Amino acid sequence: MKATPLILVLALGACSLRAAGTRPAISAGQLLERTKTLSSDAFEGRGPGTPGEEKTVRYIEDAFQKLGLKPGHPNGTYIQPAALVGITSRPTLAFVAGGRPLPMENINDFVGFSTRATNQVQGKDSDVVFVGYGIVAPEFGWDDYKGVDVRGKTVVMLINDPPILDADGDLDAKFFGGKAMTYYGRWTYKYEIAAAKGAAACLIVHETIPAAYPFAVVVSSWTRENFEIRTPDKNAGHVGFSGWLTYDAAKKLFAASGKDYEALKKTAVTREFRPVALGATASFTVDNTLRNVDSRNVIALLPGRDATVRNEYLIYNAHWDHLGRDDRLKGDQIFNGAADNAAGIAVLLELAAAMKALPAAEQPRRSVLFLAVTAEEKGLLGSRFYAQNPLYPLNRTIAAINMDGANQFGRTSDMETIGFGATTIDDIGIAVAREQRRQMKPDSHPERGGYYRSDHFEFAKVGVPAYYPKAGKQFIGQAADYGEKKVSDYIAKDYHQVSDEVKPDWTFEGAAQDTEFLLEVGLRIANGDRWPEWRAGNEFKARRDAMLKARK
Ligand SMILES: [Zn+2]
Repeated sequence: MKATPLILVLALGACSLRAAGTRPAISAGQLLERTKTLSSDAFEGRGPGTPGEEKTVRYIEDAFQKLGLKPGHPNGTYIQPAALVGITSRPTLAFVAGGRPLPMENINDFVGFSTRATNQVQGKDSDVVFVGYGIVAPEFGWDDYKGVDVRGKTVVMLINDPPILDADGDLDAKFFGGKAMTYYGRWTYKYEIAAAKGAAACLIVHETIPAAYPFAVVVSSWTRENFEIRTPDKNAGHVGFSGWLTYDAAKKLFAASGKDYEALKKTAVTREFRPVALGATASFTVDNTLRNVDSRNVIALLPGRDATVRNEYLIYNAHWDHLGRDDRLKGDQIFNGAADNAAGIAVLLELAAAMKALPAAEQPRRSVLFLAVTAEEKGLLGSRFYAQNPLYPLNRTIAAINMDGANQFGRTSDMETIGFGATTIDDIGIAVAREQRRQMKPDSHPERGGYYRSDHFEFAKVGVPAYYPKAGKQFIGQAADYGEKKVSDYIAKDYHQVSDEVKPDWTFEGAAQDTEFLLEVGLRIANGDRWPEWRAGNEFKARRDAMLKARK
């Protein structure tokens, strides 16, 4: 089936301000084809630093070239080398609690690793301290550490933000974003603050519901080779031992220490919480095997048609990597990552094709970059690498639009924006969705912390207004709960599993609709009179304001 050309939909809108133009229809079939290719076993799960990377990078580069897009690197290539280090950690962990040894079994009880690019990290008889949620957030008058010295100690903390309730028993919007997760709830933050406090080890207690993914995802994400950006100090400032405890292992540790995990967890949901020494000690080792990995971001440029603003840039980004293969697995060993994120790369490429195919007079005024980043699954490393080593000045980068996953279940009458309300791009998104006869909604699961879990976040962190819209949940011709079911099914069964493969019932009609949306939003940004801005009160606004002031 052919996707409805956006222009027909727009023609129905009485007050569309957009000059009449032709928008090439996005082909659902083409999106599916690309997704199938990129997620085929031949691409070996697109692991950075593997033969799968070679294939994937060549595929994207080749696609950019065929589309007639210019190399995105000013050196005349499509490649931004991203120097990473692959770290394979073999951890051991054992507690002594209540005077008795309490050994922990790797994978069954815990997952442990070191992001330091060194061969070995060791800790012996390190005091174990429960630090609640492990958060220091001055704007909420919150400090879980209370100045307690945790240098050299093993801090154990809870997952996510503290769930503070208001008078009605709902999550209090005044604290930690209410239902939404703030950066304080992310594991990256927790390891960062533990390192800043000088802790020797940082263990987060995994709980499935607040994590929004089972422990199997922690295992599949962290027990193989992990990646970091290669830095001169070999990440000496990182916490030495990072890890996760299963819920059961944490309960055992607390019980053996004469403490009640659930009771302590309750005390942690208040500002008055103070760190609790468990009276237990931890001994651990991590043996690291290091491998320098010269990975790559792939980038193409569509120069703006207007010479006066051609040196201003809109970025569309999507990650090309997935989890690669795991030869320890019986049977299927390849993490095909069809939805995550072969589909997103397919959207990026078809979007690029559609924009490039516009008639000369309708080409974007500003320049547009199509950026396929590496190592998202390893902690947003490719986008972080770009943000730290931008090929075009960030203070002339007007926005970044992220694509992670695509809708494989059909057309929808709605859409969602992760981090809805963060920037003025939402005004454009609402309008374009309306012209598509769709309703734009906030993220229906802000508690999953989606805003911090994909590449747009690395742009946000450095101040660039970042936008991350997703397919909606209301599928045309389906029951109201169909979309919610499909998405929770995917998360439960296929997310970061070898079974994330193209399924026989997948249809990319909805993804095509979303690609048309992304194209239109990008064009309005690239042609707009005003640059997108962070809304007042947003945590990234100050960074942007400073950056733009420095430019003048
Ligand atoms: Zn992804």
